[in-house]
Amino acid sequence: MYDAIIVGAGPGGATAAAVMARRGLKPLLIDRDNFPRDKVCGDALSGKTVDVMKRLGMIEALQAVSQLDSWGVTFSGPSGDEVAIPFTKALDKPIAPGFVCDRITFDNLVFQQAVESGAEIWTEATVTGLLREGEKVVGVRVKRNGAEEEVRAPITVGADGAYSVVVRELGMDQLHEDHYCAGLRWYWEGVTGFHELNHIEIHFVDESSPGYFWIFPMADGKANVGLGMLSSMVKKRDIKLKPLLERLVEHPRFKDRFADAKPIDKIRGWGLPLGSRPRRMSGDGWMLLGDAASLIDPFTGEGIGNAMVSAEKVAEWTEKAKEVHDFSGQFLGGYDRDVMGYLGNELKISTGMQRLGRWKWLLNKVIQKASRSEELADAISIMFDDESERKKLVSPMFYLRVLTA
Ligand SMILES: Cc1cc2nc3c(=O)[nH]c(=O)nc-3n(C[C@H](O)[C@H](O)[C@H](O)COP(=O)(O)OP(=O)(O)OC[C@H]3O[C@@H](n4cnc5c(N)ncnc54)[C@H](O)[C@@H]3O)c2cc1C
Repeated sequence: MYDAIIVGAGPGGATAAAVMARRGLKPLLIDRDNFPRDKVCGDALSGKTVDVMKRLGMIEALQAVSQLDSWGVTFSGPSGDEVAIPFTKALDKPIAPGFVCDRITFDNLVFQQAVESGAEIWTEATVTGLLREGEKVVGVRVKRNGAEEEVRAPITVGADGAYSVVVRELGMDQLHEDHYCAGLRWYWEGVTGFHELNHIEIHFVDESSPGYFWIFPMADGKANVGLGMLSSMVKKRDIKLKPLLERLVEHPRFKDRFADAKPIDKIRGWGLPLGSRPRRMSGDGWMLLGDAASLIDPFTGEGIGNAMVSAEKVAEWTEKAKEVHDFSGQFLGGYDRDVMGYLGNELKISTGMQRLGRWKWLLNKVIQKASRSEELADAISIMFDDESERKKLVSPMFYLRVLTA
């Protein structure tokens, strides 16, 4: 009856359902929650997310909801030097290169695209397991309206996020501490001192090293404040993240900006499966996308764009598999190669940058030099836009030039 069952209606799952339905396929989208619903996040939408939204005709919907356009990023290093990097030089673009939009609003917006596309959707329905015929996945078990039922399709898509039931049922290792980040989000109101072009802010502070502390401006005078750190570091150094985040807002570098502000939510945490070790993403009768596929950018912590890009590819491969009536792991392996062909390089570069970030002296030097050299700040700005330029960021020659300039 269905061409695919998509487990999870976050930005990844909802995008996959919308694209499939628009192409005339019959997807069933299942989520345990009802929408709108919250998701712990930094709420920053990168250029990649904006590009997917333009491609899928969703950008007008984003512009119509409460969000803030963001035109750059400000980094500060452990020594306190700061550099503001614009995402683009063209400040007259009709659509901003980035946005900050809370996930209650954003995820509902993408979810509504799936609704409007005509996809069948079950909410308040929890997938509890996979149905199998031998090695092949042939559907899912779902709990809804107090009863458990079975539903079948030639393809099951795991889009159920960082704690994926599909991944668990496939017997894969979900939490690898060197490739997994712990993240905290804290909503505030009244934080001051933001850049006039709504830059998101990433701060490398001694106390939170080798992770980072962020302050992102939001619509209506709110701010998303948070902290992310590699789980292996949290464990090794026995770091208590919540008290650390509470201390960071009182840090001498930031406390004045929080002087008249107040928290409007409690601190909430969630995991980030990083793309420094992407997992196998397909097999007999199944594909994974987004966080379930461990595709979060290891340096920036962004995962929405990669979830949506992998969702577009899941829809393409579902269509291809239906055309040739081949749902085998061998055929669907083309999806893995397709996703890695698109994201692999970028994930490698970001993995390299995440490792460089552990070298405090280097981070200090680069941020210090960039804060004093317009030319270097410009070069980094171009790197945001251009992947071939970004490769330089992990080249030793780049740092040698910066250090000797
Ligand atoms: C603290 C933090 C900060 C972050 N900051 C950013 C940022 O600023 N920008 C950015 O781009 N990314 C950020 N990310 C990453 C981003 O949140 C994820 O990459 C993104 O949400 C992935 O989307 P997804 O659709 O794969 O999964 P999710 O958004 O997690 O959606 C999964 C869906 O599956 C549903 N589900 C789960 N289990 C079941 C089940 N058994 N049955 C049915 N439904 C189920 C859930 O209800 C949910 O709706 C951050 C993450 C964290 C934790």
